[in-house]
Formats: sequence, C-alpha cells, structure tokens
Amino acid sequence: FDDVKKTDPQVADAITAEMERQNSHIELIASENWVSKAVMAAMGSPMTNKYAEGYPGKRYYGGCECVDVVENLAIERAKELFGCEYANVQPHSGAQANMAVQFAMLKPGDTVMGMNLDHGGHLTHGSPVNFSGTYFNIVPYGVNDEGYIDYDKVRETALECKPKLIIAGASAYARTIDFKRFREIADETGAYLMVDMAHIAGLVAAGLHPSPIPYAHVVTTTTHKTLRGPRGGMILASQEMAEQFNFNKAIFPGTQGGPLMHVIAAKAVCFKEALEDSFKEYQQNIVKNAQALAKGLMNREIKLVSGGTDNHLMLVDLTPYDLTGKAVEKLLDSVNITSNKNTIPNDPKSPFVTSGIRLGTPAITSRGFGEADMDKTAECIAKMIKDGEAASAEVRGMVKELTDKYPLI
Ligand code: PLP
Repeated sequence: FDDVKKTDPQVADAITAEMERQNSHIELIASENWVSKAVMAAMGSPMTNKYAEGYPGKRYYGGCECVDVVENLAIERAKELFGCEYANVQPHSGAQANMAVQFAMLKPGDTVMGMNLDHGGHLTHGSPVNFSGTYFNIVPYGVNDEGYIDYDKVRETALECKPKLIIAGASAYARTIDFKRFREIADETGAYLMVDMAHIAGLVAAGLHPSPIPYAHVVTTTTHKTLRGPRGGMILASQEMAEQFNFNKAIFPGTQGGPLMHVIAAKAVCFKEALEDSFKEYQQNIVKNAQALAKGLMNREIKLVSGGTDNHLMLVDLTPYDLTGKAVEKLLDSVNITSNKNTIPNDPKSPFVTSGIRLGTPAITSRGFGEADMDKTAECIAKMIKDGEAASAEVRGMVKELTDKYPLI
C-alpha cells in the first residue's frame, strides 16, 4: 500500500477512506463479505501480469506453468467442495457465468423461465434490461402471498410455456429453495434446470442449504458472497453435461478473453479455506445471526417478507410504515448502517424507490458479530424506521459501540 501512496496519493486516499468507511459501518448488504488476508494477497499478486487464454495444459500463450498450477488447484478444490465432476473457475463474475451457460444451452428466441426480479430473481435470469431478457423469450415466475416460491404455479406455467430452460436461484429470497421440486418440474416439462446458487454457495458448501448439484443440469455461482472469496464466478456440472454443452468453450472463446489468473489464485485459496472445519462454523454463525436479526426486528414490530428467514438474508417490508426503501437506505446510511433498497413481491414502487430493504449477515459475521450484537443491530434499525432522524444521535452512538467492539483496522 505504501507504493500506492507514493505513486498515486489520490487513489491511496480513496482506499484509506474506504477502509475507514468499512471499519465504522455495520455492513448489512447481503451479497458482500470480508475476504481473508490470504485471499486478498493472492488477488494482489503477480499472477495479474499473466495472459493465459485457454485451459491448463492447453493455453494459447507460453509461460503458463505456474498459473496452470493455481487453476488446477482451484478446479480440484471446487469439485471437492461441492461434490461435482466438472468446474470452470474462469468466469469473471456471476453475470459472466450465467451468460456463458445461456450462450451454451440456448438459441436466441428460446423460452426461459426465471424468477421475477421484483420477487427476488437476478437481472441475468431474464430481466428485460439484461442480455437474458433481450435474447430469450422470458416467462417469469414468482412467490405467493406468503412470500414463498409458488411451485404449483411454476409447474402450471412450465406446462403451458414449455421452456427450454428453467432458472432457479435468487438474489433476495430468504427461504430454502426446493431444487428437487424444480428438477421434477423440469423433467415433466422437458426443460433443462440451471441453478444459480450465488447467494447461498457458502451455506451449500457447509451443508446448511440443500445442494443443487444432484438436481441441476448446471450450477452457476459467484465466489464473493457467502463463499467469502474474491469477486468472480464459477460453473459446476457433471462431466456429461459439461461435454454435451461445452461450457469451457462458452466461457473461452465464447464470451470471455484471458482469465484473471490472480483472481483464480484467490479462488483456489478461498476454496481451501472453505474446506476447513472453521468454515462450517462460520456459515452456522451466519445463519444464527440472521435468525437473531430477524427475531430482533420482528420483536420490535418490523415486518419481514415471508415472516422470517431460513438463510443469510431477509427482506424488510416497509409498507406498514409508509416508508420507501430509498428513504430508509439513506436514513440507515446516515447512522453508519449499510443496507440496500430492494423491491418486495408485487412492489407498487419502482426499483429505484422500492418498498423494502434487504439485510444480510455474511459480512458482519466475518467481522465477529454474535447473536446479542444482532439484537442491538435490530434495535438500531427499528429505532430509525419508527422514529426517523429523531433517533439519529442515539443510534449513531449504538453503532459506534458495536463497530468499536470489532475493529477491522
Ligand atoms: N446471480 C445472483 C443470484 C446474484 O445475486 C448476483 C449478484 O448479485 C449475480 C448472479 C451476479 O454476480 P456478479 O455481480 O458477480 O456479476
């Protein structure tokens, strides 16, 4: 970091300010985390200097013997961690992994079922503003009035529209997803099943959410959410599916150029960490903390979509308080609590305004927060929702007490 300071003080100042921001805020964005020092160091290593188009042993560049070692380690560890036969660790992001899979399995105009963005799905599952919604005929599905995926309706819709691909997985869904049920629907309607487990990958690795591997034709994920690795994506499948659809070719040369070898090195380190017993304990704590936060909020009359959570996140329904997600995100920001506005099912407001906020516990669990801290955090959030700016000074003090207890720098 001293080198950055010397060469580029403006960037160094911004990095320092960001470190201070992270240290002084309670981080509740469900898709964020703090990586280990080892993951961070691998990302900032000379592996970033290397071009390595192709795959280990079959590169288009010389001098790839060292990067081959890390890519092979990442692949083997990913396969061990998730119990599958094939892994491609090159996707630059979750969106890239999803794009490559859709590029491999579909033709423009094919029918795809994905979870509605408003109901918790991801942009790459068929949003009209994304490539997926532009190139394919998207038939969305969603949740019922209780906030749970309506599997009967998914089946009914699939029987009607006969999709080529059904995508299961979500960015803002707090309940366990029944992958077996999705596969039965896919089999009955002649569809392939793709599971995007980006949010819950860490829970799956630790056995705390049922694995999609036995049921999906292909699984995609990010590596930076509950999994606590570098920003990036991954594709997992059986050898048979990997060969049938040639996912390797869909990544390179299909949709990407040279792989980010420093990030792949960091993925390898992350998977090694995830194979250790302490990782399971960490994931258990994420879930315990999410339960404690949900309970703490509900005890203070804050409404959650579906009335709670099974995983690492929850969606607060702000309609009873006549508040928008946009306003509450800003209000929480002003007292050093970071969250994001999020649409709730059948939200009357636009995605820029919304009627909800999404809260998650992976990052603060990495920081060391326990269940009692989560109850305090719930108290802070409830005070801000109920009393607004009048509670700011008191809540800022409560937040400082919590962040000072677990210093990051
Ligand atoms: N899939 C899901 C379910 C996600 O929640 C996200 C990101 O939030 C992605 C894919 C995209 O990941 P990335 O931001 O790495 O492209």
